Amino acid sequence: MVQNYDVFIGGGGLGGLLTASLLSQQGKSVFLAERLPFFGGRFSTHSLDGYEIPTGAVHMIPHSQRGILGQMLLKNLSLPLKIVDTHNFTTWYWKNRQPISHKRFWGFFRAIPKWKQRFFTFRRLLLDRSEIHNNSLTFHDLLSSKTDDPQIFKFFNAITGFALSLDISEMTAKTTYQFLDRLYKSGKAGVPIGGCKRVIENLVNFSQTHKSVLKKNTQLIKLETDGDRIKTIILRHTRTNEELEIQAEEFILNLGINQINSILERSKVNFRLPSLPDAIGGGFAFKSKSSLLKKSTVAQFPDCEYVKGAVEPSLISPELAPKGSHLFLTHQVFGSKDVETATKCARDEILELFPSLHEEDELCIHTFHRDWPVNNTMQGLDNKNFSDVYSNLSFVGDGFKGNTGWFMTEGVAFGTQKVTNHILNKKS
Ligand SMILES: Cc1cc2nc3c(=O)[nH]c(=O)nc-3n(C[C@H](O)[C@H](O)[C@H](O)COP(=O)(O)OP(=O)(O)OC[C@H]3O[C@@H](n4cnc5c(N)ncnc54)[C@H](O)[C@@H]3O)c2cc1C
Repeated sequence: MVQNYDVFIGGGGLGGLLTASLLSQQGKSVFLAERLPFFGGRFSTHSLDGYEIPTGAVHMIPHSQRGILGQMLLKNLSLPLKIVDTHNFTTWYWKNRQPISHKRFWGFFRAIPKWKQRFFTFRRLLLDRSEIHNNSLTFHDLLSSKTDDPQIFKFFNAITGFALSLDISEMTAKTTYQFLDRLYKSGKAGVPIGGCKRVIENLVNFSQTHKSVLKKNTQLIKLETDGDRIKTIILRHTRTNEELEIQAEEFILNLGINQINSILERSKVNFRLPSLPDAIGGGFAFKSKSSLLKKSTVAQFPDCEYVKGAVEPSLISPELAPKGSHLFLTHQVFGSKDVETATKCARDEILELFPSLHEEDELCIHTFHRDWPVNNTMQGLDNKNFSDVYSNLSFVGDGFKGNTGWFMTEGVAFGTQKVTNHILNKKS
C-alpha cells in the first residue's frame, strides 16, 4: 500500500533529523527512513564498558552555543540540551616544549613558537589577502610564496587537519580564510552534555512528538519520476526485505553523494550529482584513569605526521566515561599512506606524546574512508543544495554545506536551514 506525506527524508544522520525536526515543527507531515538499526549516522555513539564511543564526531560542536547548530538546537527547536564551551580554545603540544593554551582566538599567536613567526602570520597572512580571489591557489601554495618556515606550515596543518581532516595543500586559500574568519567570529568549540547521542535522542523525540514517522532498518532503494518531479520512493526493510512505497510533495536526501548517485543509477534516471573528493581520516578512543589534558580543550599536535588533535569530552560531560575514568579521543589524517600503516604510525605518535597511556588503554580505532568518510566532500567543494533537474528534490548533510565557511556539523546545520526555508517558502 502506498503511503502519503508532505515530505520524505532519506537518511537519519544529523542532517536528516534536523530537517525532520524543523519541517515537522512547521506542521509538515514527515516520513524519514534510516537504513541502520540506529539514528544519528556519524553523529552518535555506542556504549562500550561504560564509555560512549563515537560513530564519528568526537562530541564537539565546533562553535558551541554560538554557532548555527547550537542556535538551531537551543533556540529554534528549544531542545532541553546544554552545550558547554571548552575551557581553552586550543592547547598546543610542540615537541620538547611545555603545552601552550589560549582561551581566545587571538591567543593562537602565542601558540606559534617565535615572535618573528607570529608577526609574519599576523601581518603577511591574516591581514594581507590580496591573492585569495585566485580560486585555484591552495593555502599551501600561498604560504610557500611567502615563507619556507616549516613550523608555520605545521601550525596551519594541525588546525585544518583536526577541524576539516584536510592538509593545507587540499584547501584553497579562499576556503582557508573563510574557515579562519568563522573561527574568529564564532569562537571555540563546546560539548553537549550527554554527547552527540543526547542531541540525536532529542531530535528523534522532537520529530516524533510533532508527528513525524521515523523508521530504522529501512533502506531507500529506488525512486520513480514523473516529468520534472520525483513521484514515489521505494524502501526495503533491511531484515525482512519487505518493501514500502512512499509518495510525497517534497523529497530530501541525506545520504552522501556516492549513495545518492547509486540510487539514481538504480532508478535509471539520467541525472547524477558531480562526484567530489571526500575527506578521510580516523580516530582512536583511549580510556585513562587520570585526565591527560587537565582542562577541556582541543589539543593540537603540529609535530605529528598523522595525529592532528585530541579531545577529552568527559572533562565536560563525565557521563561519557565510567566514574573516575576519562575518554580520550584523537583524530588523524591518513594522507596517501595505506590505512593500516597510518594507523600503526598514529598509535606510536600518541603513545610517545602521552607516556602515561599504554596500548591496553586503547578502547578502539575507527577508520573513516570509502563509503564512510569524515566529510562526504572536502570543505569548500560542496554540491548545490537543490536539484536543477527535479523540482521537488533537495539534499542535506555533508556535501551540501553551501561554501560559507561553516564547517563540520555547523555546515550541515547551515545546509539544512537553507533547504528547510526553500521548502517552506515554496508554499507561501
Ligand atoms: C572521525 C570523525 C570525527 C568527527 N568529528 C566531528 C566533531 O567533533 N564535530 C563535528 O561537528 N563534526 C565532526 N565530524 C563530522 C560529522 O560527524 C559529520 O559532519 C556529520 O555527522 C554528518 O552528518 P550527515 O547527516 O551529513 O551524514 P551521516 O551521519 O553519514 O548520515 C547519513 C545517514 O544516511 C543513512 N543512509 C545511507 N544510505 C541510505 C539509504 N540508502 N537509505 C536509508 N538511509 C541511508 C546512513 O546510514 C546515515 O545514518 C566527524 C566525523 C568523523 C568521521
